[in-house]
Amino acid sequence: MARRWTFADQLGEHFLDAADQPVLLIESRAVLRRRRFHRQKAHLVLSALRHRAAELDGQAVFLRADTYGEALARVREPLTVCRPTSYAAAEFVARLPDVTVLEPRGFTTTQEDFAAWASGRGRRRLLMEDFYRDARRRLDVLMDGDDPVGGRWNFDPENRQPPPPGGLDAPRPWRPVEDEIDEEVRDDLSRWERDGEMAFVGRDGPRAFPATRAEALAALDDFVTHRLPCFGPHQDAMLADDPVMAHSLLSAALNLGLLDPMECVRAAEAAHHAGKAPLASVEGYVRQVIGWRDYMWHLYWHLGPSYRDSNHLAADVPPPEWFGELDAGAVRARCLSWALEQVRDHGFTHHIVRLMVLGNYALQRGFRPRDMADWFHRCFVDGYDWVMIPNVVGMSQHADGGTLATKPYAAGGAYINRMSDFCGGCSYRPAERTGAEACPFTAGYWWFVARNEDRLKGNPRMAMQLKSLHRLPDIDEVCARERDRGSTPP
Ligand SMILES: Cc1cc2nc3c(=O)[nH]c(=O)nc-3n(C[C@H](O)[C@H](O)[C@H](O)COP(=O)(O)OP(=O)(O)OC[C@H]3O[C@@H](n4cnc5c(N)ncnc54)[C@H](O)[C@@H]3O)c2cc1C
Ligand code: SF4
Repeated sequence: MARRWTFADQLGEHFLDAADQPVLLIESRAVLRRRRFHRQKAHLVLSALRHRAAELDGQAVFLRADTYGEALARVREPLTVCRPTSYAAAEFVARLPDVTVLEPRGFTTTQEDFAAWASGRGRRRLLMEDFYRDARRRLDVLMDGDDPVGGRWNFDPENRQPPPPGGLDAPRPWRPVEDEIDEEVRDDLSRWERDGEMAFVGRDGPRAFPATRAEALAALDDFVTHRLPCFGPHQDAMLADDPVMAHSLLSAALNLGLLDPMECVRAAEAAHHAGKAPLASVEGYVRQVIGWRDYMWHLYWHLGPSYRDSNHLAADVPPPEWFGELDAGAVRARCLSWALEQVRDHGFTHHIVRLMVLGNYALQRGFRPRDMADWFHRCFVDGYDWVMIPNVVGMSQHADGGTLATKPYAAGGAYINRMSDFCGGCSYRPAERTGAEACPFTAGYWWFVARNEDRLKGNPRMAMQLKSLHRLPDIDEVCARERDRGSTPP
């Protein structure tokens, strides 16, 4: 059996054809030098790779080199590799003479099934909801014959509640205990940084996400047993004292290849069948994994390499230094300061913070979508090209003009106030759009709509907002002020 080269995001057993298949692992320093990653992200990836090498012991050849090319020059046998997860890496392996590239793994819908769905009769738009229902049927997840279990496909109305007044009663998530491999990684990263070889963003901290298959399974089991039952109702809510709420925190393990997404889905489904988790929570979770995660993966390839340069809203402001440096202390707006602090200290926030605070702010201020994709990619422990480009360029920054999301995810302070407990302790007021206490999100929202009126005109889902815009007596003042405020820290 040919040796299988597995990249650092292909670390699970499901990337091998047999448990005893010979493996090649490569640690490339150039990858870490090329971009300024979050310190905890660099740590997690190196730790996972080195743990895998230690676990496979003699079964794996583990090469440390400057570049992949240098490492491959030392390999004298034919290799196979599952297609890597970015255009750059896929093109690189396709050019190598002694490497056979296999179908990608680590997702629930195959390329063939996606293509069949996308070119299905009468399909005018590639809607996530349609894709998800097709996947539910095809994979037979939460199905009762031809019908969805419980008679409904979608529990979004139940799953979009504001935060509960007394906080969420979800037990604390599973966290790993570091070992000597983590210590070695920490020493190496500190030395490379001291020597000026590479630089990082964010703060170092104890590793918070799984680096091995055993840890990933423990985290999955902990989530399904203790936290899945309360995953659903408040999944769109944000609480200052509870940054993770009932989210699974499994994206990093899934994206490193330590978990097979289908095993997460089956575990959640089994919890429901055993009467241990309500249907709305389980459906909400399953929707994220076989729906959103796979939908983003397939769109990344379907939309082609030039999709990353989309800029429908002509947003050309470079993200300011304080934002890039995660300088939470420079910001008075409580929601934004809190979000930057989370990224700085953990390289992680949950979905709604990414979309409705960080992404929303960048969208309103007109930050360049491609720069934002790079920022998210570098700063989040679970960030990879395939997942960032559709999530940031498409979903969060509406730079594709609506291919992926039917309207921009822009919202004012009223939304943040309803879905979080940030506004009470903020020096701005969510209802104010002018004056000293004007909320930068509320005023920023109207500036965004006014600035992009011509581009948003054709979108029926923006008709009401555009009508409201013309009813605002102070819109000129709002726009002038926000133009002035620009991207200075709010
Ligand atoms: C601007 C922006 C950037 C994002 N960047 C990333 C990223 O770099 N990596 C990443 O894995 N996810 C990304 N997401 C999607 C989502 O925010 C994270 O997957 C999620 O917050 C991870 O936390 P969790 O594991 O606790 O997720 P949960 O809330 O527990 O969700 C369950 C799982 O569903 C999957 N999932 C849910 N939504 C998405 C989505 N939109 N795209 C892909 N997978 C999804 C994840 O694997 C996640 O573990 C991004 C979303 C936005 C709006
Ligand atoms: S008032 Fe505005 S800036 Fe302050 S926390 Fe609320 S939404 Fe954020």
